[in-house]
Amino acid sequence: MRYVSTRGQAPVLNFEEAMLTGLARDGGLYLPETIPAFSGIEQLDGLSYEEVAYRVIRPFTGDSFSEDELRGAINRAYARIAHVARAPLTQLAPGHHLLELFHGPTLAFKDFAMQLIAQLFEIALKRSGQKITIVGATSGDTGSAAIEAFKGIDNVDVFIMYPHGRVSEVQRRQMTTPAAENVHALAVSGHFDDCQARLKDLFNDHAFRDQVGLAGVNSINWARIVAQIVYYFTAAASLGAPAREIDFTVPTGNFGDIFAGSIARAMGLPIRRLVVATNQNDILHRALTTGEYRTGTVEPSISPSMDIQVSSNFERALYLAYGGEASAISQLMDELKAGGFTISQGALQTLQDQYVSGRVGEDDTLAMIRTVRDETGEILCPHSAVGVAVARQHIEPGVPMVTLATAHPAKFPDAVERAIGVRPDLPPHMADLFDLPERVTRVENDAEAIKSLILERRTQ
Ligand SMILES: *Cc1c(COP(=O)(O)O)cnc(C)c1O
Repeated sequence: MRYVSTRGQAPVLNFEEAMLTGLARDGGLYLPETIPAFSGIEQLDGLSYEEVAYRVIRPFTGDSFSEDELRGAINRAYARIAHVARAPLTQLAPGHHLLELFHGPTLAFKDFAMQLIAQLFEIALKRSGQKITIVGATSGDTGSAAIEAFKGIDNVDVFIMYPHGRVSEVQRRQMTTPAAENVHALAVSGHFDDCQARLKDLFNDHAFRDQVGLAGVNSINWARIVAQIVYYFTAAASLGAPAREIDFTVPTGNFGDIFAGSIARAMGLPIRRLVVATNQNDILHRALTTGEYRTGTVEPSISPSMDIQVSSNFERALYLAYGGEASAISQLMDELKAGGFTISQGALQTLQDQYVSGRVGEDDTLAMIRTVRDETGEILCPHSAVGVAVARQHIEPGVPMVTLATAHPAKFPDAVERAIGVRPDLPPHMADLFDLPERVTRVENDAEAIKSLILERRTQ
């Protein structure tokens, strides 16, 4: 399988190379040249999550990993998810299901991808003898998942930039308490979008990039998307696919999770609708309804992992909607630097055929946490509540709706307490989180300052 950049000017890579590289050298994102068709959906129901993962991921990895290597990585990764089904489905109402993606070590869906790619990185680096520096930007959950997954992994340093004061205390502690020397939490003065922009600066400095062996594990990394395709298959198969169509609603920020759903559909999974759910930072909802992709200022919300104005994976969806015309994407991304762009009529139509969207404000999010608790006893995190609120606007009789529950409520206790007056408990295996010492470095929102810090601190 060959991987090409959305901007058309970077080398064509195999899976392992695309995984180790992250962002393409031309600033674009890697995508497979063709999306493999999946056969055998009818055989998936009742298989273990690990077995489904192997079957879904295998076509993307090509020659990069042997069967034993890939199966071993999958088994080690998902053994750390504290539920035997890994991604269990629960029912909220007739026809409405919740896909619980929060049983991993950092209590958010990002563990599904990060645990797996840490295992794959370890195999690849051991083989090549290469040493790398992973730098990531996070609105909270990616960073904790990355630090947890890569702590103690050989030949890797991990630096995670998060917006100072804008992540929850649980998120922060998950990043600052792991004691392994190869993981480093950086608190940047600014918003998540600033962290993401600095990350792009680092990647676009080719000399620095080569000097430290820079690698990225943000949701721009194709290997993460691949891991997230799996749970669409397990959920749909257990609800009757391929004989039945299924709708999915996905609380969306950087468009990685829902884009994985669109790849599942392109592989042949009968997904009828993919519903994009946004909070008050609704650039995606506006873009999909009006065709105008214009950045505004981030309004901090109670669902901070979705507080995003530049949604990096949307570039992949645009690339597909523009029929793989890389020059058009390069031009749009240049216009974005100046504030935004207008999606062409044809591409907008294609996007609207594939995605519907909705937006939920703060009060309605809190109200939905209350409603679901009253109706079912289930306590949602605020991101999942945004998803459930939008899903309820799109449920149609006869088509099961699955809403992705992207984090555990205990990760966002302040919002949950505001909604229902109760602080959800951390699961027992994390009970000491508030007792451990924290380790963090403050840094200005400045690429040069961040580069020198990395050069000084890396252990490899
Ligand atoms: C990252 C995250 C999201 C958004 O996912 P994207 O792939 O960026 O769209 C939603 N909810 C939670 C809890 C997250 O951590």
